[in-house]
Amino acid sequence: MFALSVIAASNLMPRQNPAASSVHPGPHRGLRAVTRPGSTPPRAALVARGAMDETGIMNETQADTAIARAGGLYLGGRRLAFLDRARIYACGITPYDVTHLGHAATFVWVDTLARTLRLLGVEPEICRNVTDVDDVLDAAAHRAGEPYDAFAAVQQYYFDRDMAALNVRDVQHEPRAHRYVDQVIRLADGLLAAGSAYVRRGSVYFRGDSAVRDAGLDRDGALRLSAEYGGRPEDPAKDDPLDVAVWQAGEQGHPAWDSPWGQGRPGWHAECAAMALSVFCSGVDVHAGGADLRFPHHAYHAAMAEAFTGVRPYARAWLHAGTVRVGGAKMAKSAGNLVLVRDLVEGHPAAAVRLMILDRPWSEDWDYSPALLDRAGKRLEELYRAAGRTRTAPAAVAETGRLLTADLNVPAAVDLAIEEGGAAARNATAVLGLN
Ligand SMILES: [Zn+2]
Repeated sequence: MFALSVIAASNLMPRQNPAASSVHPGPHRGLRAVTRPGSTPPRAALVARGAMDETGIMNETQADTAIARAGGLYLGGRRLAFLDRARIYACGITPYDVTHLGHAATFVWVDTLARTLRLLGVEPEICRNVTDVDDVLDAAAHRAGEPYDAFAAVQQYYFDRDMAALNVRDVQHEPRAHRYVDQVIRLADGLLAAGSAYVRRGSVYFRGDSAVRDAGLDRDGALRLSAEYGGRPEDPAKDDPLDVAVWQAGEQGHPAWDSPWGQGRPGWHAECAAMALSVFCSGVDVHAGGADLRFPHHAYHAAMAEAFTGVRPYARAWLHAGTVRVGGAKMAKSAGNLVLVRDLVEGHPAAAVRLMILDRPWSEDWDYSPALLDRAGKRLEELYRAAGRTRTAPAAVAETGRLLTADLNVPAAVDLAIEEGGAAARNATAVLGLN
């Protein structure tokens, strides 16, 4: 369906722009439309569809209506239809360190998804959690000599500051894990009642076979990822190494709460599942997060939610933003290669940082380099210059919007906006949050 929608879009594109090609080479160029010999000329095609009258006049309101009628959003190659609301769960931060470019990229994509939904007349409702009960956070707070919650609150402040700099809008729900402990206990109770969990030595474990099966992983691969992401496969209390704690029995050096199984704390995947179900009841339209969260975190989150509610699938679609690397290596504090948002926006327009993040397919892994940011800055200038032009082929406004609804195809939308200029460029600038 995605390929078809892109080909259909190609008929509306007036011409290729060699200059645009030279400033922005890359794999997404393959998505760029090519007007085929003998295909319907752009204006005639729009007139035939009733999207424009013979004079070519279509104002921006009409353009928006045309986009809304196009019917839905294509995400990850599948069409999602909405009436007027969309539930989006964005797996949020663990506030133990400053925001790096890899974190920021996910939330900029979620913000762009939300802005694109508004183009369709759909009001997005975003829940972006804060994982402030977490073993990694505990360790960082301990090193800093601060209580975990005070430490998390300070880190949260820096995160909010970086998001504001990148023009990421405030979200509707921002649950913090430490306030959802009762919901995790209810989740654990429900999973026990459903026969999907069991109690051992003060912990409640969720049976992981369904999560591993749905993720399509073999056992060895699942065990390796489980160990890498704190799943404790070696824990002898478990029936199976791939089971995970919904409720973890109390341990020295970690916060603890009372529960029917004794003192303890929520498991990571269970926290997110409890927050998502508490805010959205039985499931979500889009679940978003970094690609590295696909397994185990999102797989177990979805499996727990489905076992608890009996509603499948928990998520209609997933948006796993590609991993940001430096010189081919994943960004990590231990590797000393973190690229911080704060540093980038000090030396460059924040809109250029935002465009650098967005000017690619959202699921693609990519390498940050200063040259890439410089290129994004030049492309932003081109877009702003184009926005200052007075003439616009009216259908181009609708077409830039339509390209965004086609799997958030930012590169093609920006190419077209630069090419056509005027209202098309102003519209693209606003929708992409580059103003
Ligand atoms: Zn999560």
